Amino acid sequence: MTLRSSRTDINIRPYRELHTDIKGEAIFPRTIPPIHHKIAKLNLQVTDLAPKKRILTGDRPTGPLHLGHYVGSVANRVRLQHEYDTFIIIADVQALTTNFDRPERLAEDVRNVALDNLAAGLDPNLVTIFIQSYIPEIAELTIYFSMFVSVNALRHNPTIKTEAKAYGYSDLTYGFLGYPVSQAADITFCRAHLVPVGADQVPHVEQTRKIVRRFNELYGEVFPEPEALVSPVGRLVGLDGDAKMSKSLGNCIYLAEPPESVAQKVRVAVTDPARIRRYDLGHPEVCIIHDYQKAFNPGFVEELEPACRSAEIGCVDCKKRLIAALEELLAPMRERRAQYEKPGVLDEILRDGTARAKREAEATLALVRQAMKIDYWERWG
Ligand code: ATP
Ligand code: MG
Repeated sequence: MTLRSSRTDINIRPYRELHTDIKGEAIFPRTIPPIHHKIAKLNLQVTDLAPKKRILTGDRPTGPLHLGHYVGSVANRVRLQHEYDTFIIIADVQALTTNFDRPERLAEDVRNVALDNLAAGLDPNLVTIFIQSYIPEIAELTIYFSMFVSVNALRHNPTIKTEAKAYGYSDLTYGFLGYPVSQAADITFCRAHLVPVGADQVPHVEQTRKIVRRFNELYGEVFPEPEALVSPVGRLVGLDGDAKMSKSLGNCIYLAEPPESVAQKVRVAVTDPARIRRYDLGHPEVCIIHDYQKAFNPGFVEELEPACRSAEIGCVDCKKRLIAALEELLAPMRERRAQYEKPGVLDEILRDGTARAKREAEATLALVRQAMKIDYWERWG
């Protein structure tokens, strides 16, 4: 779906064109006149001229991306970028839900997460990578949604419960409890259809679907009902063998990690605790290295499983094979990363992407106001 209007300044123009004419406005939204003045005279209507469906997904800039992100979501982003109009959100506001006491780290983490996505193979000419906090319409939409989402629904959200426990929160902040509502606004501001995520995010996409249904029922059809796309490895376990690999838990192998450090982490990782000597029989089902082989070296697994069970292969050799497979995945990422690290390149990509996301957000919020009958200038005019 796309938006059209009789006024040219809100037509959704090609990606590159946007950069030059609204650059300043979009990146520093607080310096422009109130948005509602701009949209007051528009007569917006929904058409279905857009050829591609949309993806919205992204990451919290709480640290560099790791192998869990790659198999859980990033690989699907890369695979689908030609087929879908893809929006990648760098969710810095959501990062503040747990890191509000150290906002100074965001400036570096935002860059790193963007670089990691590009290094993994996202093409900036195809995808829109943008920074959440520069799109105030997302916050506005969050507020509208929050009027009809019950506190109990949020309290019972299984991911909220797991994360609150992991962070040791007993008394949840308003922002943390409400982040699934903000995430619903992230997904809907660009009227996305598909959300490639890890398994932990499925309850949040389900919450978004409920919000969309309720909104559309209350005010009229504005949003498509988005679907989660969970990869076969929806939850990669961390090096501690316990929780999911998570940048906030420090149990990760990072995408930008140097080869020697990757190899060392694999070498010291705990395997099957019953395999103390080389000729003890293995139990792949309890071994994290086996999980990693399934995710990153799937062609080897059929041969590996019986060889591990019969002790034909030892942990050292098994780990060597994994280290080689990881190197094959990560080496091209390091090369691409170096290109995007050249001065000015990333800034331009993020400014372009944020500008395009801002235009989409303005267009969607105009529709939202129209649907909710709070587009006062239009109504009174
Ligand atoms: P944090 O601990 O700060 O929340 P995170 O490691 O959970 O960080 P997010 O930015 O919250 O990372 O997640 C980004 C995306 O990556 C989400 O779709 C999430 O489901 C997915 N993801 C994160 N960790 C894993 C994992 N270990 N396995 C599979 N998918 C994952
Ligand atoms: Mg997370």
